Amino acid sequence: RAKHEGKNGVRTFQPAMGDETTERVDLERDLRDALVREEFVLHYQGQFDVRTQALVGFEALVRWQHPAQGLLPPGRFIHVAEDSELILPLGAWVLREACRQAAAWGANARGFTVSVNVSAKQFDHADFAQVVRQALTDSGLDPHRLILELTESVVLRDPAAAAGQLARLRELGVRIALDDFGTGHSSLSLLRQMPIDFLKIDRSFVQDSHSADAASSRVLIGIMVTLAHGLQMQVTAEGVETSEQHALLRELGCDALQGFLLSRPLPAGQARALLDPPAA
Ligand code: C2E
Ligand code: MG
Ligand code: MG
Ligand code: MG
Repeated sequence: RAKHEGKNGVRTFQPAMGDETTERVDLERDLRDALVREEFVLHYQGQFDVRTQALVGFEALVRWQHPAQGLLPPGRFIHVAEDSELILPLGAWVLREACRQAAAWGANARGFTVSVNVSAKQFDHADFAQVVRQALTDSGLDPHRLILELTESVVLRDPAAAAGQLARLRELGVRIALDDFGTGHSSLSLLRQMPIDFLKIDRSFVQDSHSADAASSRVLIGIMVTLAHGLQMQVTAEGVETSEQHALLRELGCDALQGFLLSRPLPAGQARALLDPPAA
């Protein structure tokens, strides 16, 4: 790559702008335009009580309705937003939109939650609690209905700073979930000190629970549930795809489930229908 035969036959290397860099710069520019044109949409994935199967909440998952490439999943663009400052306006938009939608669906009266993913850069920003407060005020959403999803690395990288930020968020009345739990480097003693309300067991454990590694995955899930409950946290399992996994997670004491078995992430109109399932 980037290797060319010079006129005199000497091989030269094309410096600086490789294809990847150009692509990234293009993507960054397109993202900036997309924000202005409001090309982002949220899909909502239901979260269900493990025993009653009642809907208890939604996770808001961003997509980009790209004019040429169609609907793009976050894996295609969120890393570029995170590497630039664009995650700040994009993240603020996601928060506002998720709060607005949940309030419009009657989350306050009906008691379901809406979960929003938060990137490290957003969480580290001094204004973050203010951005959250504004989204709550503008939408009228009860703060207790909002759950912010953070990964272990975000919370544990700078524990002292994180504790301060979490305290400010707690003051607003919002709740915190630790996303993709078990994949990062958790410190048990720090976990105990952090005001965290929910652990989300990463889908890799759920999906291994009926594979060759079944026995060890089951042990690990059981330990995570015990740990969470011992620290007064609730447990959501991610990536539930089969009824066998559902049965196992129920047996192991998980509180809520999320996964394709129960519902895929859906556009708002279809997600809304999960709130009032047709009578059987
Ligand atoms: P996440 O927060 O762990 O979200 C769960 C991801 O797992 C979603 O992918 C969801 O579609 C997928 N999923 C749910 N159930 C199943 C299942 O049963 N099987 C399988 N194989 N997958 C399942 P998605 O929507 O592509 O999002 C990927 C990641 O992008 C999210 O992982 C989150 O880290 C990030 N993300 C999504 N929306 C936002 C956002 O608004 N802001 C930020 N900062 N990150 C976001
Ligand atoms: Mg999440
Ligand atoms: Mg997750
Ligand atoms: Mg994940």
